[in-house]
Amino acid sequence: MTDARSYLFYQSRNPRPFLDRGEGIYLIDEAGKRYIDGSSGAMVSNIGHSNPRVLDKIKTQMDKATFGYRLHFRTHPSEDLAAKTVAMTPEGLDRVFFVSGGSEAVESAVKLARQYALTQGQGTRYKVISRFPSYHGSTFGALELTGYDPLRKPFVPMLAAMPKIAAPTTYLDRDNLTEEARGLKYAEMLRDKILEEGPDTVLAFLMEPIGGASTGALVAPDSYYARVREICDEFGVLLIYDEVMTGAGRTGKFLAAEHWDITPDIVAMSKGFGAGYAPLGAIVARAALVEPVLDAGGFLHGFTYAGNPLACSAGLAVLEELEEQGLIAHAAAMGDVLMRELRALMDNYPFIGDVRGKGLLTAFEFVANRETMEPLPKELDAHARLVELAYERGLIIYSRRTRGGTSGDHFLIAPPLIISEAQIGEMMSILRDALDAFAAEAGL
Ligand code: PLP
Repeated sequence: MTDARSYLFYQSRNPRPFLDRGEGIYLIDEAGKRYIDGSSGAMVSNIGHSNPRVLDKIKTQMDKATFGYRLHFRTHPSEDLAAKTVAMTPEGLDRVFFVSGGSEAVESAVKLARQYALTQGQGTRYKVISRFPSYHGSTFGALELTGYDPLRKPFVPMLAAMPKIAAPTTYLDRDNLTEEARGLKYAEMLRDKILEEGPDTVLAFLMEPIGGASTGALVAPDSYYARVREICDEFGVLLIYDEVMTGAGRTGKFLAAEHWDITPDIVAMSKGFGAGYAPLGAIVARAALVEPVLDAGGFLHGFTYAGNPLACSAGLAVLEELEEQGLIAHAAAMGDVLMRELRALMDNYPFIGDVRGKGLLTAFEFVANRETMEPLPKELDAHARLVELAYERGLIIYSRRTRGGTSGDHFLIAPPLIISEAQIGEMMSILRDALDAFAAEAGL
C-alpha cells in the first residue's frame, strides 16, 4: 500500500504502491494487483523478472565472494562476462570495461576516446558532437552531451558547451525527398558541423542508433548509418554508439548497430545488460583504441564497483539466458507482432500520428493532425494521462513529451523479450482500453 511517510525523494514525491514481487513479464504490488511490465521498467528487464536460473547463479556467487576489488584480484565472473560480451558483439569490438550504469558508460566511452587521441598526438581533439534531442544520462559529463533542454537548463552555466546536430526526425519532414535522401540530408549535418568546428578539434560523434526516451524509438533511414560512419572515417572522428537502451538484444540483434552492419569504435551499454538483476554497464571498444592507452600508462578512469563479481555473475547469467533461450531472435519475431498490432491502432485512434521502432523497442506518438504532425495541446497532458489510465488498468508504459526537445507526446512499448504472442494480445487489450478512456476524457 502507499505509505504517505517517506524519507526518500526522486524526481518528485512517489505516489505509487509498494512492489511485492516480479514474475516473468508481470509485477505484483503489495495489494496483489498485477501489472504487465510493458516498458521493462525503464527498458531494463530484458529477460523478465525473477528468472530462476539467473537468481541461482547470483546466489552461488554470493556464497563465494560479493566483492573483490579489481586491483587486488581478477575474478572469474568479470573475466567470463567480458569474454561472453566480446563473443556476442560484432567482430572488431574486443575490449571491455565495466561500469555500474548508463551515464558512467557514456562518460567512460568519451574518456577512452580522449585518452586514445592523446596517444595519437591529437591533443587538439576534445569536442564530442551529439544530437538534439538525445538522452545520454544525468551526470555532468553525460548531461553535456544530452540534447534535452528541460534537464539541462538549471545546470547550463556548469556544463561545457558541446556541439549538437539535429536527430534524424524524418517522420516530421514535409519535403519531397525519399526516406533515403532524408537520411543522407541528416548525415550531412554531421559533416557540416565537423567542418564548422574544425576537424582537428572534433574527438567523437555520439549517437543513440535508435532513440530511446529522447525521440521515442526513432529509427533513421538506412542511408543515415553508413554515411555517418563514412564521415567519421573521413575526418578521423571516433564513432560512439550509445546502446545503453538498445543493446543486449532489445531490438532483435545483440547490438542495434548490427542492423546496419556498422562497427562503431566504442559502444556503451547498460540497462538490459544487467537486466535489472544488477546495476551494471559496460563499454566495448576496438583493441586498437585500448592497447595504445594501456601502453601509454593506463586508462585514467575507474569506479570502485567496476567489475564487481556479484554484478558480473548476474550479467553473465543474463547473457547466457539470452543466448540459450534464443531471446534475441524471439525479440525480433515478437517485435513484428507488436509492430503490426500498434500500426492497427492507427485505424481506430486518429490522434496516433506515428508508430515506429525495431524489435521490442517500439513507440507511438500522439498528434492533433496527421498531415501537419502538430502535437496535441500541452494542456491535455496526454503523456502523463495515458500512462495513468494504463497503470490503473494494470499496464506499465513509458512516456515523454520531448519532440524537438519541446513538444510531442510519445509512448514507449518495450516489454521483456520473453513476452509471448498471447501476452502481447493481453497487453494490447489493456492499451486499447486505456486509449478509449483517454479519447473519451480528452474529447478526441
Ligand atoms: N543513454 C541512454 C540512451 C539512456 O536511455 C540512458 C537512460 O535512460 C542513459 C544513457 C543513462 O543511463 P543511467 O540512467 O543508467 O545512468
